[in-house]
Parts: sequence; structure tokens; C-alpha cells
Amino acid sequence: MCIKCECSSPTPLYKGSEPIPADAIVLFDGKDLSNWVKRGSDDPAEWKVQNGYMEVVPGTGDIVSKQKFYDCQLHVEFWLPLMADARGQARANSGVYLQGRYEVQVLDSYGLDSRDDDCGGIYKLVAPMVNACRPPEHWQTYDILFRAPRFNEHGVKIEAARISVLHNGVWIHNNVEIHQPTGGEIDHNYAEPGPILLQDHGDPIRYRNVWVRSLCL
Ligand code: MG
Repeated sequence: MCIKCECSSPTPLYKGSEPIPADAIVLFDGKDLSNWVKRGSDDPAEWKVQNGYMEVVPGTGDIVSKQKFYDCQLHVEFWLPLMADARGQARANSGVYLQGRYEVQVLDSYGLDSRDDDCGGIYKLVAPMVNACRPPEHWQTYDILFRAPRFNEHGVKIEAARISVLHNGVWIHNNVEIHQPTGGEIDHNYAEPGPILLQDHGDPIRYRNVWVRSLCL
């Protein structure tokens, strides 16, 4: 048990004081959802904010960052509830989408032989190299480097999206190509920038300390 904040993680609760890169855009600093809206609208995000984290309120929908990105580095921390009676995709499901179109799965896959729809999978496309999951009720991290797909002047895709992912500090994807959206994408304007999207899959997942660097890779 963390003595600072009484969460079950040995990582102290983010208080907005950790060093982050000077060029980072802080999308969530533990205080409010002012940088987010409900998916597909300009309406305020309805997820709960307390104790420095946001939590999915099931049924209120996915949330998206107001700001949109092409290439970027994303840091996000997530916490999964223990859903002991649930199995597979029903066990603490959420997701982090790059450009609103490419999902890095968030799921309780602790101890499993990870497949492409498990935690860290590029959903249904690429399995993580290794299972780097911590148990539920522990804070976990994703550090993601995303290169948006490239299109020529006729709108024809000439380079696939690429992604590298560190899960809890462990490389689970190294510059892998993503040849198509992973499903549930925000739109079909694939050449356009897109938001960071956090998925409401019906389970009370928590997120904190979300920041992005807008890059040109
Ligand atoms: Mg998901």
C-alpha cells in the first residue's frame, strides 16, 4: 500500500510535480477534464475526477482530447479494478487511442500469454512482444511513440502508421507498422490529425498524468 495516497501502488500519486518535458502538453493534471470533451461532441467529459485521477463513468462514453495530433509521444498512467469474476474482454476493458483511430488495448491481462486483443495489444492487429502487465489495482504506465500514416497529395496512403510502446518501462512494440485503424475510430479522415481518445468500455478504469509531445518523426 502506498503510504502517501493510500492507493495500492508503490508509485506515489501524481501531484502535478513530477518533471515532464518542457515541450509537453499536459492533457490531465489530476484536477479537471477541461482539456477533454465527450466523443463526437463539444459537450464536457462526464468522467469522475477525484484524488488526482479520472475514472470512467460507464455509459457516459469515450472522451477525446480537445487538441489533435499527428506524430506524438504520449505518457499515460492507468489503474484497473479487480474484476475477479470477469474473463477475457470483460475484465477491466478500456483503451488508449492515438489519432482517435489506433487503439492500444487497456485490459486486465495479468499473467496471461498475451494476444493481440490483450493489454498492450494494438487491438486485434499486433500482440505485445511480452506481457508486461502489473496486477489489477496497481498503477501502470504506457509511454507511446506514434508516427501518423503519410498520404500523398492525392490522398493515397504511402506509409503506414508506426508505433513503439513501453508498458511499465518494458518495450512491448518497437516501431511496428499499423496498416489499418483498429476499429471504433472517430472518423474516416485518416490523413487528418486526431485526438487522444480514452475508451469507455463499461468498466471503471482510472487514468492519471496524461501528457503529450507533438512531434515530427
Ligand atoms: Mg478496449
